[in-house]
Amino acid sequence: MVGLAGPLFAAVEVTGLRVWQAPDRTRLVFELSAPGPYAAFSLSDPARLVLDLPAAQLKMTLPTAGSMGPMLKAVRSGEPAVGVLRLVLDLGAPVAFRVFTVAAVGGRGDRVVVDLYPRDGDGLDTKAPLTDSDKDYIVVIDAGHGGEDPGAMGYLGLREKDVVLNIARRLARLIDEEPGMRSILTRTGDYYLRLRRRVDIARRAEASLFVSIHADAFRSRSARGPSVYSLSQSGATSEMAAYLAQRENAADLAGGVSLSDRDEDLAEVMLDMQLDWKIEESRLLGTQLLSALATLGPLHSRHVEQAGFAVLKAPAIPSVLVEVGYVTHPSDSKRLQHLGHLERLAAALFRGILAYCHKRPGCPLPQTMSKIHVVKPGESLSGIAARYGSNVGAIKRRNGLQTDVIQVRQKLFIPAAIP
Ligand SMILES: [Zn+2]
Repeated sequence: MVGLAGPLFAAVEVTGLRVWQAPDRTRLVFELSAPGPYAAFSLSDPARLVLDLPAAQLKMTLPTAGSMGPMLKAVRSGEPAVGVLRLVLDLGAPVAFRVFTVAAVGGRGDRVVVDLYPRDGDGLDTKAPLTDSDKDYIVVIDAGHGGEDPGAMGYLGLREKDVVLNIARRLARLIDEEPGMRSILTRTGDYYLRLRRRVDIARRAEASLFVSIHADAFRSRSARGPSVYSLSQSGATSEMAAYLAQRENAADLAGGVSLSDRDEDLAEVMLDMQLDWKIEESRLLGTQLLSALATLGPLHSRHVEQAGFAVLKAPAIPSVLVEVGYVTHPSDSKRLQHLGHLERLAAALFRGILAYCHKRPGCPLPQTMSKIHVVKPGESLSGIAARYGSNVGAIKRRNGLQTDVIQVRQKLFIPAAIP
């Protein structure tokens, strides 16, 4: 039932609703025309969550049931008292919930955010480790942004959050099919994770490495090509590094994290006794990633830049932020629309990660995996695969090849024999 029109003095209009599904929660974001008070409470039999907005009016059509995931069956509205907008969330089961407001920021208006967590799940705050295996070389891959926070916007509607998730998934696949390696994606779909949570995932998994993937915008449209950033103890090493760190650190605001939610300050992590070690390892990792990325075209910067990125603060875990290109540059943006290019980027990142591991004492991954084959006349992919005891699919993925076509003198990275 749609409520009657509120009183004429209603100051707040509810103009939109977006629903995001994450594995551990469902997030509803109500867009408001202005900040306003709210009250929330839950009801049982049947399970419901009620959000009352005094002096508010509904200026949108609520979505119909069916598309909002298992936790949320429907959203209805009513008017329990004159001028009060009541939004009723019909739930599939009892939930734990959290409601908070986000003030207008960066071109986005005021919002009321409702997070629903399964009550029996560990959604509120899990302390248990994500993994019971500490033998694998674990690479945490962080696709930047997501959900409420689209990241940078490029040509033809290209969104950073989509591009980076696509690359992250491809990279995860390459890692997972490598014996002794395992990937963990911080996000697996289109939803936002606070920066602190991304860091926590790496920390709890006792990750070997943390790689955050981005494709940003820059105020100068001539910025192009990949670059790699690591954490800095002091200032930023370039204007671009300072700019990006500031931008990325603000992502929590765009992603719908309330200011009061930012209690656990990341500064504590900076006390990390191993910071010098971590910074040096991150630089070495970044250097290997840059030389792998250089095989795809010109780099934005040949050196690993540094700045105070909040997402790179997992203690004692080498951590880098990779900008795979700039969506504000016409040709970068165009390349990032092609799945073939995303596959080549993922393959380059994978090779860089392997090369870094191989250069470190104690790398658990066998050296045989970094074989390079230069294609000679008359050779085919299947012939090369047979010769190295590998397979065509694995070679194609390692090199980011979309077809079986190879060129004479082309360098192919040959993965290890499939055990
Ligand atoms: Zn970004």
